[in-house]
Amino acid sequence: MRDAAIIGGGISGLAAALAVSGLGHRVTLFESDTQLGGLGTTFPWRDTHLERFYHCLLPNDDSLLERVRELGLESQLLWRKTHMGFMYQRRTWPLNTPRDLLTFGPLSIFERLRMGVLGIRVKRAGLAGDLDDISAEEWIRSHVGARVFEILWKPLLSAKIGDQYGSIPALWLSSRMNREKCAGPEFKGCLRGGYRSLIVAFAMALCRRGVTIRLGMRAEAIEQLPTGRMGVRVAGHDAFAFDYVISTSPLIHFQSMTRTLPIPTSVRDLQLDYQGVMSGVFLTRKPFTPYYWMPWVDSDTTAQGSIEMSNLVPLERSRGLHVNYLVNYTHRSSELFSLESDTMLARYRRDIEQLYPEPAATIEEAFLFRAPFVEPIWTTGYARQVPPTSVIPGRLYLACTAQVYPRVNSWNSCCALVDEMIPRLAEEVAGIAPRPTTRQTPHDEPTPGAVPARQP
Ligand SMILES: Cc1cc2nc3c(=O)[nH]c(=O)nc-3n(C[C@H](O)[C@H](O)[C@H](O)COP(=O)(O)OP(=O)(O)OC[C@H]3O[C@@H](n4cnc5c(N)ncnc54)[C@H](O)[C@@H]3O)c2cc1C
Repeated sequence: MRDAAIIGGGISGLAAALAVSGLGHRVTLFESDTQLGGLGTTFPWRDTHLERFYHCLLPNDDSLLERVRELGLESQLLWRKTHMGFMYQRRTWPLNTPRDLLTFGPLSIFERLRMGVLGIRVKRAGLAGDLDDISAEEWIRSHVGARVFEILWKPLLSAKIGDQYGSIPALWLSSRMNREKCAGPEFKGCLRGGYRSLIVAFAMALCRRGVTIRLGMRAEAIEQLPTGRMGVRVAGHDAFAFDYVISTSPLIHFQSMTRTLPIPTSVRDLQLDYQGVMSGVFLTRKPFTPYYWMPWVDSDTTAQGSIEMSNLVPLERSRGLHVNYLVNYTHRSSELFSLESDTMLARYRRDIEQLYPEPAATIEEAFLFRAPFVEPIWTTGYARQVPPTSVIPGRLYLACTAQVYPRVNSWNSCCALVDEMIPRLAEEVAGIAPRPTTRQTPHDEPTPGAVPARQP
């Protein structure tokens, strides 16, 4: 039997752990947080849990939906037609159908028609490789002109990538639009019990397969042991020894954990920064709007937009209150990111008071969350740089958001990446030398039990 270590208990780590435990390997999962779920984690609220960051499923999330079925949660899926609004100078425009586009006031008739043509071009272009070498900004400007870019696209891009939107390739944009908008009306899905029910179902399935889950344990380094096996070093412990390791932590962390290993320079030296996010969760008795999501453009707000989760998720989940997320995608080094939570919440509250005075008067509670490593900031030509999942064949694997490109960063893309990695991993791991039976170095034994395994 092979011993596998998985670093990270977000969706990538959970999907990887489920897959390799299915190969019959003995798995230990290290998660630095005290709960599983990564960016999909929740916070306790009243007698339930709410998501820190808004999350939904899409009908074409095939790999994720496969997990939902495998874990017995299919009957918990709810689908709803959702709508997008676009706020421009404090006026809201629906932006869902060709008719909406034709009546979209901020643009001239000619610009609206050009936008319509762009939609058709995006659908046709799909994931054409040459879009990787041109920036989304350049591509959009060339098709719809500078003014449309400034009014509509720049805010949409910066609402996702922040002020580094200029580097994003057109391929990413095309991939995103084809995922969300080009498949007819916008349908989104959720689970009756929230993302937490999926995380719990993963955890239970892993426990049934004998996976050891070590919460609150941050892997600091991955090393090669004298016997050729792999060591995972955690602060305050001897290295834990394994036949192979799968890391799912962001690329930046992976690179710093593997400094002593002979990994390809294409992985070691790849520069990929990440955008962070601030998320204000406001619980109100009244809704803001009927829209699921809406960028707030040129409207003198701190937030880049809102996601009104209760236009997707039934109100019973939040005990009759409306769950609204106000967001800012911003770099971890930005001034905004370092603001105190109370300051940020006060700014968000002011936004709501100015835009939606009535619902603002019904705010019952508010919470702020932030995450520093969320959205890889893709740059043109990235398709040629995507790191391989097999970093040291048979010994070291990487499955993280840095590799989902040109797919969008999502739970589905993470599951799809694991699906692609597993067949090769199974073959390569089967080929590595079996564990030595001779006397081993003190560091070359796993130390299960040295730290009590904590289950979620
Ligand atoms: C605001 C927001 C909205 C989003 N909306 C959606 C959506 O609607 N639909 C969707 O599908 N996706 C959405 N996403 C994207 C989705 O959350 C990510 O694609 C996904 O969570 C990435 O999963 P991951 O496991 O690769 O990484 P993460 O979720 O970041 O998990 C990595 C885990 O590894 C742990 N870890 C890292 N380093 C170490 C270490 N050295 N040792 C031990 N543990 C470590 C971390 O603590 C973390 O738990 C959203 C994200 C955000 C922030």
